[in-house]
Amino acid sequence: MKYLILLAIVFGVIWWIKLSRPAKPPTSSDKADNGPQPMVRCAHCGLHLPQKEAITAGDLQFCSEAHRQLAEPHA
Ligand SMILES: [Zn+2]
Repeated sequence: MKYLILLAIVFGVIWWIKLSRPAKPPTSSDKADNGPQPMVRCAHCGLHLPQKEAITAGDLQFCSEAHRQLAEPHA
């Protein structure tokens, strides 16, 4: 009976540790979910950023709207 109580406490602690931890593991699995992202280079400052976050103007990609405006000649 003594061991049964001890076992219950051990299981209780394990369960509590599981609950107290965040459900999803760190960023490595997030990357796995999204797959490898194509990276592009800002034509103005050379910063590398994910293609989906880049601002595209013609053939060129930019990290921000400000850099797109700086790099493009004013029409
Ligand atoms: Zn830039």
